[in-house]
Amino acid sequence: MAAANLRAAGGLPRIDVRNVSLRYFTLQGETQALDDISLAVAPGEFVSIIGQSGCGKSTLLSIIAGILEPSGGSVTVDGRPVTGPSPSIGYMLQQDYLYEWRSILDNALLGAQIQKRDMREARERAIHLLHKCGMGDFLHHYPRQLSGGMRQRVALARTLVTNPDVVLLDEPFSALDSQTRLAIADEVVEVLRSEGKSVVLVTHDIGEAIAMTDRVVVLSRRPGRIKSEHLMQFPSHGKRPTPFEARALPEFNTYFSTLWDELDVHVEG
Ligand code: ADP
Ligand code: MG
Repeated sequence: MAAANLRAAGGLPRIDVRNVSLRYFTLQGETQALDDISLAVAPGEFVSIIGQSGCGKSTLLSIIAGILEPSGGSVTVDGRPVTGPSPSIGYMLQQDYLYEWRSILDNALLGAQIQKRDMREARERAIHLLHKCGMGDFLHHYPRQLSGGMRQRVALARTLVTNPDVVLLDEPFSALDSQTRLAIADEVVEVLRSEGKSVVLVTHDIGEAIAMTDRVVVLSRRPGRIKSEHLMQFPSHGKRPTPFEARALPEFNTYFSTLWDELDVHVEG
């Protein structure tokens, strides 16, 4: 639901980004990365942000995560201002940052350890989540023994062990081959939906955005502004399709061509 609609419906957004702008200052000068971004995400909603490389997608996620302070505007999660990293926000990156000397289970427990959680409870939850992510047989393996897709499953389990309400995903599949991407998309969506998370997925892959999320937000070229928003609905399917099913539906192709035009991709060289 768009920000204004959500407020009009009286629902409190989980994430509320209001009029956010960001300028980077470097020795070379000033770069305006984001300009007047407003975006609300409802509890349990999946939103994706697409836009060309350098348009400010990662910058926006870092601001929502509380890692970067906006130059203007504000972000709240459940009505509380975001002023720094918080346990209610989980952040998963393209690179999995697994520690090679820790077992899979111990890697999944990292966040819980840093947050000084009850480790017996965290361990139970980590084992449960690793099973859910298809990694139940690998608890005592080490990262080097796993494929790229398996490593990302572990990184997802680790993000979820501390039970954040909001999960931010920054191009989490871009290092994976295309078949693994398709397989993992279904699993990731299934796990995140069953956990009731609100999700913001950044991707430059139009198909991934359409298949995995409820709403696609298109950013313009730098400075990133919201160019358009599109609700992903698949009436030909009845119930909500899995990402894999979505790709075979007629609506997928319609959304794909709309978003392709919106992105205004130019091939250089
Ligand atoms: P995206 O994730 O969409 O590719 P980013 O958010 O990483 O884009 O970057 C947006 C713009 O801000 C780019 O032009 C990038 O070069 C610039 N930028 C990103 N991080 C920094 C930084 N730490 N200092 C200066 N400029 C930066
Ligand atoms: Mg990026």
